[in-house]
Amino acid sequence: MNIDQRSSPELTTNAQLCERDNQTNAQLFERAQRVIPGGVNSPVRAFRAVGGTPRFIRRAEGPYLWDAEGKKYTDYIGSWGPMILGHGHPAVLDAVHKAALDGFSFGAPTEREIELAEAIIALVPSVEQVRLVSSGTEAGMSALRLARGATGRSKFIKFEGCYHGHADALLVKAGSGLATFGHPTSAGVPAEVVRDTLVLEYNNVAQLDTCFAEHGPELACVMIEPIAGNMNFVRASVPFMTRLRALCTQHGALLIFDEVMTGFRVALGGAQSVYAGLIPGFKPDMSVFGKVIGGGMPLAAFGGTKDVMSQLAPLGPVYQAGTLSGNPVATACGLATLKEISKPGFFEALSASTRSLVQGLCAVGHDAGVPLVGDSEGGMFGFFFAAELPQNYGGTMATDKECFNRFFHAMLDRGVYLAPALYEAGFVSAAHSRADIDATVTAARDSLRR
Ligand SMILES: *Cc1c(COP(=O)(O)O)cnc(C)c1O
Repeated sequence: MNIDQRSSPELTTNAQLCERDNQTNAQLFERAQRVIPGGVNSPVRAFRAVGGTPRFIRRAEGPYLWDAEGKKYTDYIGSWGPMILGHGHPAVLDAVHKAALDGFSFGAPTEREIELAEAIIALVPSVEQVRLVSSGTEAGMSALRLARGATGRSKFIKFEGCYHGHADALLVKAGSGLATFGHPTSAGVPAEVVRDTLVLEYNNVAQLDTCFAEHGPELACVMIEPIAGNMNFVRASVPFMTRLRALCTQHGALLIFDEVMTGFRVALGGAQSVYAGLIPGFKPDMSVFGKVIGGGMPLAAFGGTKDVMSQLAPLGPVYQAGTLSGNPVATACGLATLKEISKPGFFEALSASTRSLVQGLCAVGHDAGVPLVGDSEGGMFGFFFAAELPQNYGGTMATDKECFNRFFHAMLDRGVYLAPALYEAGFVSAAHSRADIDATVTAARDSLRR
């Protein structure tokens, strides 16, 4: 059908499109709010935590974003982690172009799915088999179901401040008192659905001991962000992780690493390779991936030992499926991304660049007499307006929010796009040059001076 023959009232002419090209962020936000709840398709994009108008992004290249008003930003979100190579990496673009020409989706197996599974298994030794899905939420939800199905147990532990996607059983916060059952954090999640979710404080060994002593034989699994990026940037301490591993093994509960954010981001082997370097022989029983493995396309995965994974349909009794799972364009994007980050020296350079950003920010804070601390691993970082690095969710939320919000907007004005909430981690890509990092530190110096 010729476009001019359509008489739909929604028909947008080229002239209207050009006109719309000039709409400001505020105009777009208003227009978006008419047709999309809150104007966004994922809540944190709405800038509620920091106030102000979200920027509508028109395009991106390398480490930069351009908004609807043509303003340029240095991007420290990278789509919340996936864009580890920066935007529009030529090798990735090429792989996506080629894959798209061969077809968008078949609903039948492809060789590329095998290649991606093989690549993940080669990089993450704890994973013997892996299943591909389309989002981190789906991967986390499926991993939980599989852990419950494989152990025949219902209860599991999660930690306050860790985010594992928005599956019902995972939208829980701690109840009152020690190791009590959690409360739903969303309307629409019935209390009985989270009855078996035990919520503990991150990095609290004593709570872990008490909870296992009480519920050990009933626990299917423990799900954890090993380096938590949803309470800014908080590492699980080595004593805590060591105890957690020992307790899971002792009680037959599966230790699930949610590496949706950290996988292929903090190191080529993910956070588990970092802990394996600190705790001899360490590995989790299951892992959940997302973000970087899709390189910006909807792709995620969960994996573990052959024993556990063989409980999944069609081999075993645990059901799990997906129309777009292992999508041929998404797997091409993910594979091309993994290939680039596997090149010698990639993580050394990315880590050095990220570390120099955090050190620069801390030095600027010191010079301005503002308490500012930070930490990083690989291409993931966090900084806090506080005297010491927080150890858990309460600690992060107790840092100076007013200061963070003012800093966020001062940086945004200066063309630096940081995560719009103090409880989110930041990301540096391989496309960020020394000059980009230096310019950001200079912008931070100006921002803090005010
Ligand atoms: C982003 C994230 C998820 C959810 O992934 P989606 O693709 O947004 O569903 C789960 N776990 C962690 C640790 C994450 O950072």
